[in-house]
Amino acid sequence: MKILVLNSGSSSVKFQVIETDLERIDKAEDLTLVVGQVEKIGMSDSRLVISVPGHKPYQAYSEILEHRAAINWVMNTLVDPEVGILSNVHEIEAVGHRMVHGGEAFASSVLITPEVVNEIEQCSVLAPLHNPPNLRGYYAAHHTLPDVPHIAVFDTAFHQTMPPHSFLYGIPFQLYKKHSLRKYGFHGTSHRYVSFRASQILGRELSDLRLITIHLGNGASVAAIDHGKSIDTSMGFTPLEGLLMGTRTGDMDPAIVPWLMAMEELTLHQVNTMMNKHSGLYGVSGISSDMREIEEARAAGNQRADVAFRMFSYRVRKYIGAYAAALGGADAVIFTGGIGENSTEVRRMALENMDWMGLEFSEERNLTHEGGEGFISTEESKVKALVVPTNEERTIARDVIRVLEGVMPTFEPPETVW
Ligand code: ADP
Repeated sequence: MKILVLNSGSSSVKFQVIETDLERIDKAEDLTLVVGQVEKIGMSDSRLVISVPGHKPYQAYSEILEHRAAINWVMNTLVDPEVGILSNVHEIEAVGHRMVHGGEAFASSVLITPEVVNEIEQCSVLAPLHNPPNLRGYYAAHHTLPDVPHIAVFDTAFHQTMPPHSFLYGIPFQLYKKHSLRKYGFHGTSHRYVSFRASQILGRELSDLRLITIHLGNGASVAAIDHGKSIDTSMGFTPLEGLLMGTRTGDMDPAIVPWLMAMEELTLHQVNTMMNKHSGLYGVSGISSDMREIEEARAAGNQRADVAFRMFSYRVRKYIGAYAAALGGADAVIFTGGIGENSTEVRRMALENMDWMGLEFSEERNLTHEGGEGFISTEESKVKALVVPTNEERTIARDVIRVLEGVMPTFEPPETVW
């Protein structure tokens, strides 16, 4: 079945067409037919980029003011004989939508119905910057493809299995009840995909394994996955918590917020912007949010790039130790995301001298790893360390199939009686 996967942001729509079914999922033979995006929606020079494996990239410019026009443009281009990807729109048999926040309402991927739309809208208060554009993408795609099923896949759903002692904050309990103020965690599709892939590579059942998955991209998070269930993750109520990121602070003393507001006479909005956009690698180094540029500057002797790099890697290391303890020991540690897949230096700093937990890091394997999947622990290491490139779009396409075939797992929260 050909599935259109959409990731709709406020000014961009990323898309892929993926061909898959239960048999292909089983054999990991899902086929990506096209990858593309519309950028700068709302501006006069919106750009559509499409790349088809084995063809030269296609691009076009137009004035695209909103998501419906963007999706129309994508569909018209996909069926354009010159681009030659689809012979007609009816080849798309289902659409998978990335939805950032499913709150406590969604512990699984679901078929989108009017009730589901309503629930997602209610979750928008938890992710005001993300859920509304995700929904705009859905409305637009539903308008263009009204007769096919649309499925929502949530970043948060996989982490719904966390027990209350890891998802609650130490604030008055009634605030959790009143505002659903708790840890949700994000990057769920990525943690899920790489944990499943790692179990296949290790030749063991996911239900037999204790895994620490580490997604290091512009946003970054770690998850502790106990026999297939997420029991803790480093991002929180929002994606700000946890690791140091490209432009986000990660963990810090919350008392800094009121203190800064008083001392610098900042508004709430200004502090929020500072913590989300002007901090992290960028804020500390003063150079860039991009790890490649940090590594270059560090190699050239820049001290602030060096300390930003060390902060980044040190926190990854600290979370590995914390989650090894949370899991009562780990079977494997898995790196993914642009930095996790490519930065030998970050992986080294995070993993060397981890013999205490049974993980023997292989300097050589780490240095010679050239992309793709592979081990970076020694052959003898009791705890394995692996690199597994993430593929969130593939997970979304697979969930579309699973929902339609009635085999979608649910990541049910533990029962609680408050
Ligand atoms: P996003 O979270 O936006 O999807 P990615 O997963 O693509 O981001 O990760 C982007 C990050 O990966 C950037 O910080 C980039 O510098 C880093 N990265 C990509 N390639 C390399 C590399 N060869 N070495 C170090 N870092 C890299």
